[in-house]
Formats: sequence, structure tokens, C-alpha cells
Amino acid sequence: MSILIKNVLHNNEIVNVFINNNKFTKISKGFEAAADIVIDGDNKAIMPAFYNTHNHAAMSILRGYSDDKNLQDWLTQDIWPIEAKLTPEDIYIASRLAILEMIKSGTVFFADMYFFNEPTMQAVKEMGVRAAISFFEMDMFDKNITTQKIEKTKDFINMPNPCPERIIKGISCHSVYSVSEELLQYSAKIAKQEDYFMQIHVAETQKEVSDCLEKCGKTPVAKLKELGLLSPKTILSHAVYLSEQDIIDIKTSGSYIATNPVSNLKLNSGMFMFDKLYSEMPDKITLGTDGACSNNNLNMLESMKICSLIAKIQANKPTSGKSENIFSISTRNGAKAFGLNTGIVKEGALADCILVDLNNPFMTPNYNLISNLVYSADSSCIKDVICNGKIIMRENHVDNEKDIIKQAQLLAEKIKKI
Ligand SMILES: [Zn+2]
Repeated sequence: MSILIKNVLHNNEIVNVFINNNKFTKISKGFEAAADIVIDGDNKAIMPAFYNTHNHAAMSILRGYSDDKNLQDWLTQDIWPIEAKLTPEDIYIASRLAILEMIKSGTVFFADMYFFNEPTMQAVKEMGVRAAISFFEMDMFDKNITTQKIEKTKDFINMPNPCPERIIKGISCHSVYSVSEELLQYSAKIAKQEDYFMQIHVAETQKEVSDCLEKCGKTPVAKLKELGLLSPKTILSHAVYLSEQDIIDIKTSGSYIATNPVSNLKLNSGMFMFDKLYSEMPDKITLGTDGACSNNNLNMLESMKICSLIAKIQANKPTSGKSENIFSISTRNGAKAFGLNTGIVKEGALADCILVDLNNPFMTPNYNLISNLVYSADSSCIKDVICNGKIIMRENHVDNEKDIIKQAQLLAEKIKKI
């Protein structure tokens, strides 16, 4: 499969872009090449797609189900009870809804933290995106559940990857307040043994930090370090409340951070120290949406803007959260965090990209394309999405989208009656 995109704006020049199989093979002015598909890039710009490094994709089916509560009440009173009643078939329908929303807003990769991995993998395989699908560890300090989780982790390891070219298998732990030390340590061991990426929520709220200090005399980050969970393949989600020593430990370990600005605002968790952390480790900060329950969408365009605005308020400086830095964390840093040679449109990189409509009013005038994408754009500005050398959205259309929405609506009707 080959694609030729003709006369498209790239780095302030009009070029042709040739994609062969799953890579950008030539980006240059005015060359001709035979291709299976030719796209007219006139009045479009080719840009990297987005890499959402923290998500609970299937929670999209619970969008608007419960809002305006604090994190603990929200999880324990509403979210966890309804999640316990969802079936694998429900998760498949919900994952397809999430992926549709992500494609429509230019996202080609998501790091997922959820239960029932197989249906989500199936949805990823069918819809053409990339994902890091992790086995989800949470035992609420119940020994029986710890044992069950360890057994099920082994099943996950043995489960064949249905789409190795686009799915990365990994492991995730919910948090230090919901996973026992035994299971955290076991997860760290498995991540090392299987060379898995590890995701964990950490230092999301002040309460999490103060409870951890009270219980074990350490910050959550220090606890992860002690139990062997900090590594270059670890992605720490939230990291809102970090001590100076926590920052040193994260930096030394080479771990990545996924900031989730919309979720942090909605749950009133706090403001990520973007200015300080980006200056300390510019390649290690990435962007996530969190699940659609705490956001309430998976739109990286919106999250980029809010990330920048929080950075300015948090540091009390309008020069914080510059659009080019926010764009980097949402594209190349996110790809790098999961070992993907993409996140940038260049020859030799995996062919993931979006084509942006330069005739859209949100993109006009075009003094600065990245500024427009971070501060002005909405999903309507993204016309086409390519992932791994295949077109997954063409002129705003995604295959089966009507069916995906219909199934999600029917599932929501069922959930209302539970
Ligand atoms: Zn989360």
C-alpha cells in the first residue's frame, strides 16, 4: 500500500509526501510517483498526529454518568459499582466509541488502563489506531484478589497479541492507595521480565500524598521507587504533587510523566507544575486526556490548550506552556514514551499524521500553524488521519461511524436501567 499526498504544507513549504507501507519514504518538492492512493493536499497542512498517554478508553460509555464529585466519592459511589457490571461485549462497544472520538480529533495512539483487554484490542485492531493495552492491577489490599490478579496476569502474558504492528502489551497499577505492596512489587517484576511498559496513577491529589506519608512515611513516588516501579518504561500519570526529591527520583529513573490537565481541573485535583517539570525534563513530559468520565472527552486539541493555560496560571507566567512545547509533548514525546519511531513527520518515521484544513475559520489566518492548533483548533479542522501508513479518516469520515454511535446509544440505554 502506498499513498502520495500532493502539494501539502509541511514546515512552511509546499511539498509532496510519499508513504510506502507504514513509513514516510520521501518528503520533497514536486516529485512524481505512482501510488495506490493519491490525496490532493491543496489547502491542507500535514502535521504529526496525537499520542494520548493516559486513558481509560471504554469509560467513554460513562461520559456524563456521574460528575461534580470529589475523586474518592466519584470512584467509590458511582464509577466502580457500575464498572463492575460491564461485560466484555460492553467494553468492545465502548472502546469503539472512544477510538472513533480519538480518530475524529486527530489521535492515533492511546495508552489504556482498563479491564477486559481482549475486546479493546479487537477494537484497536479493527479501527486502525495504535494502543498500549495494559493488564490492570488493583486489589484493594484484599489477599484473595491479589492471588487472583497474579493468576490473571499470567493469562494476559500468555495471550497472543492480535495486532503486534499496532498494539503494545503492558501492565498498569491503579495507584498506591488501591494496590497492595505485594501486587505492586509483582507488577514491577513482571514489567521487567516481559519488557512491558508500566502505567500508574501517582500523586494525583494532596490526600493521596498525605495518606501515603501517614501510612508509610514516604511519598507515593518514593514508595514506587522503593518497590522498583520507576524505570524508563514507566509512565506516571498525573504527578501533580511532587516533592523536590520526587522530581530528582523521577528524573534519575528516566520515567515519563503523563499530565492530564482537564481531569485535574474537573476533579479539582490541582495544577501540574508544567513550567518547572518541562524545564527539568523536556523530553519526558507527555499529555493524556484521562478517561471520558473525568474529562469528559478524549480530545487532545482541547487538552493541549488547557495544559498551556494551566501552565501559565500555575507558574504565574504567560511565557509558560508555550504552544510549541505543548505540541511537542502531545506528539513526539508521547510517541517516544512508548518507544514508537513517530510523532514527527519525517522520512524514515512511521507514517502517522493528520491533514489539517487550512480553509477552516479556526485555522485562519495562518501566521503560526502550531499556535492555531494549540489555541484555536477544534476537531472540524482535522480532515484526514493516517496511522501506520493507512488512512483511518478521509474527509472527516471514519468507517462504520454510524453503527459505532448507534451501538453506544443502545448500550447507554441498557446502563440507565442497571
Ligand atoms: Zn486515570
